[in-house]
Formats: sequence, structure tokens, C-alpha cells
Amino acid sequence: VRVEVPKAEHGIDPKLVDERAVKVVSTLVEGGYEAYIVGGAVRDLLLGLRPKDFDIATNATPEQVKGLFRRAFIIGRRFRIVHVVFGRGRQDRGLSEVIEVTTFRAAVDPAASEQAAGDEKSLKSEAGGKLAAASHVVDASGRVLRDNVWGTQVEDAARRDFTVNAMYYDPVREVVVDYHGGMDDVKKKLLRMIGDPATRYREDPVRIIRAVRFAAKLGFEIEEKTRAPIAELAALLDNVPPSRTFDEMIKLLQTGHALASIVELKKLGLHRGVFPVLDVAFDESQRHDGREQFVQLALADTDRRIAEGKPVAPSFMLACMLWHDVQAAWVALQAKGEPTFPALQQAIDSVFEARIGDISGRGKLAVDMREVWMMQPRFERRTPASTHSLVEQPRFRAGLDFLRLRSRCGEADPDLAAWWETFSLADSDERERMVDAVR
Ligand code: ATP
Ligand code: MG
Repeated sequence: VRVEVPKAEHGIDPKLVDERAVKVVSTLVEGGYEAYIVGGAVRDLLLGLRPKDFDIATNATPEQVKGLFRRAFIIGRRFRIVHVVFGRGRQDRGLSEVIEVTTFRAAVDPAASEQAAGDEKSLKSEAGGKLAAASHVVDASGRVLRDNVWGTQVEDAARRDFTVNAMYYDPVREVVVDYHGGMDDVKKKLLRMIGDPATRYREDPVRIIRAVRFAAKLGFEIEEKTRAPIAELAALLDNVPPSRTFDEMIKLLQTGHALASIVELKKLGLHRGVFPVLDVAFDESQRHDGREQFVQLALADTDRRIAEGKPVAPSFMLACMLWHDVQAAWVALQAKGEPTFPALQQAIDSVFEARIGDISGRGKLAVDMREVWMMQPRFERRTPASTHSLVEQPRFRAGLDFLRLRSRCGEADPDLAAWWETFSLADSDERERMVDAVR
């Protein structure tokens, strides 16, 4: 049932709504279409939070949307969506300048999917003179491989994951549209899957990770029926392309509740196998070598930074997760007589290959991680030339933060980190004195 919730009841503060999102909605409405803010933004608004990005859902096709805006780009192959760009930036200049507009889509009906799977061409049909349908395909375990079926708002709501993620907000009329009792669940702080949870996890096992991520991030309970099938179905995550679980992991680590998320994953018996990188960090056999402490400190630090409104770099977090692997390989190579720096280079190469070979497309990430690691032995060498070039490195701050974490685990001298902090803030005369004093 479609419930329209009036302002008196939902209490959304219009000041939390991005004016560009309002602009996109009103432009679409004036163009004769339906349009709403949808998903996570509505959930956050209901919780009194300022959403970090605003998604719009509409009954206009991507082409129709594009036609209404001066700077709009149709992107995506699996799902065709429109990026409406504001400000000076292009799409890649940060999410804040882009409003994502998605056409209402239908949920995947497994019977129809099989039919579509046999027919590689898209099934074009004119429904009520309105929208064309394309194909959708599921694999043997029920996972959706392709999904590009236009639909109505009712259908669009039903294909979303959790009730609290499936509401629509019209910022002009200030009305929330709710089909699945999301309003109540927000009030009860309950994360509830739409439809049959087991079926929905089978369609897309990533929803398992999402359940944990949202529970931790929002401080919601996972509803009993939504939680029950998770342990049994967790193995399905093995069939999901690493690029998708990797993205969810990065998001999970950036919720500001990374530690809580890991605790929740452990409760569900899920911390192993979901993210190879986290498995490394939480390897039981390595419990006493300090890596767990190191990773926990790193996660706690990340959470604190986010609470303080500071940015966190995924590369830094990953560098923390994989550090002890790198270190073990580095020590082994040095024991074989390899000099310090080449040994570290080789250790890093071997860890990348073993652990994140499948994300090698993310070049920048790997480059940043390598830089943070390579700085570590350089902090030990305090010559006039080396100190100068190190402090000028663009990633110097990250490298120093990393050194500080290491010193908090007894892995590096705390005085060394303090020395570099002072050095970085000093003028050139003072720097010269500092370097002389330690030689
Ligand atoms: P966040 O604030 O973390 O971005 P979000 O709810 O906006 O949370 P997104 O991953 O940005 O999450 O997805 C936007 C919306 O798309 C969700 O609110 C949900 O309605 C829908 N959605 C995203 N991923 C899935 C999925 N795997 N299955 C079903 N619906 C999904
Ligand atoms: Mg989002």
C-alpha cells in the first residue's frame, strides 16, 4: 500500500535538503514527470542527518532526463542512469557536484528472467505507451546479472533492499511516500529486508554485507527474519565479483563505525571469507603478533577521524590492513641478504599479487599504499637530504600517521614520530639544528 506521510508526521528539516536536488526534482516535475529524492538520502533526512549524496528517482527515461538539463550525462551499462552536473566540476570531481537520476525500475521476476536469458536481445515492449523494458538475467544461484527493466514507483520500491532505504521524498510538496513501512522501521531503528530475506540475499549476496554496514552505521537492529538466513547464505558471497565486495568493504570502513561493523561481522560468523583483506588482519593464528591490535587501532582511528569530520583515505586503511603481510615478507627477504629498500619493494609486490591482484585496476590506490609503506624505513634515516625530500612528499602526513600507529603498538619509537611532527612544522634553520642533533 502506498502511504503518503505529511510533514507534520515525517518532520524532515528542509534545511538539510540539498538545493540542487530540489532543483532537479522541480525541473523534472515541471517537465511533466514524477520525481523524488529516494533511498539513503530519505532515510538520513528522517534521522535528522545531512545526507552526503542525493539520488533522484523518476518515471522519465534517461534520454528524457538528459533532455531537460544542460549538463547531464548518461552513464553505466548495467544500469543506465543520468548524472546531472552542477558547479564547475565534471563527473569525476567528487560526488557532491553530481546528482544521480535513476529511472524507476522493476524488481526481477525469476520466471521472466529465465525467458530473458534465452533471448539475448532486449525485450522491447511499450507498456501503456510509456516505457520500454530491457532484459534481466540471473545465474544458477539466483544472482541478478543484468537488470534494466523500467517500471513503476511501486515496483521500484519493491526491488530496493531495506524498508528504510525504499522511501521517496518530494521536497516541493514535502511529502514522504512509503510502501513498505519504512517510516515505522526508522522510528523503531529496525533494519528490515523487503520481501523474503533469503530470496533477496540469493538475488544479490552483497545485501548481506549491506545489512551489516547499515546496522553498524545507523545503530539499527537487524530484524530477526532479516538476520536469520545470513550465516547460512554467507558462502554465496564467494560468487560475487571482488570489485563489488571491495566497494562495499571500502564503504563499510568509511561509515565511521568500522570497528562496530567488524564486531557485527564476527557475531554473524562473517568476518572470514567476506573480505580477504580483513581475514589477513583478523587471522586467529596471528593473534599474538600485534597485527590485530594494529588493525583495531587503525579502525578506531578511522572512526574517530570521521566523527571529527576529517577525511579518511581508503588507501591508508588498506595499507594498515596489509601491513603485517608486507612486513613479514620484508623481514624474510632481508634475512636472505636483500638490502632494505629493494626488499620492501619486492615485499609490497608480492603482497599486492597475493591479496589484491583482483583490484589491480585501482592503480592510484596501490600507488598511495606503496608510498605510505616505502616511507617507513625512510623515517629512520635522518640525513639533511633525506629529511628534506621526505617532508616534501605529498603523502608525508599519511606516512607519519602510519608511523604513529606503529609506535602505538610498540613497533616504532614514539620519539621518532614526535620528532618528525616537530620537524615538519619547523622553519629551515630549526630543521637544520634538529638534523644535526640526531647525527
Ligand atoms: P549510503 O548512505 O551508504 O550511500 P545508500 O542507502 O544511499 O547508503 P547506496 O549504496 O548509495 O546506499 O544505494 C542507494 C539505494 O539503492 C539504496 O538506498 C537502496 O534503495 C538501493 N540499493 C543499493 N544497493 C542495493 C542492493 N544491492 N539491493 C537492493 N537495493 C539496493
Ligand atoms: Mg548512497
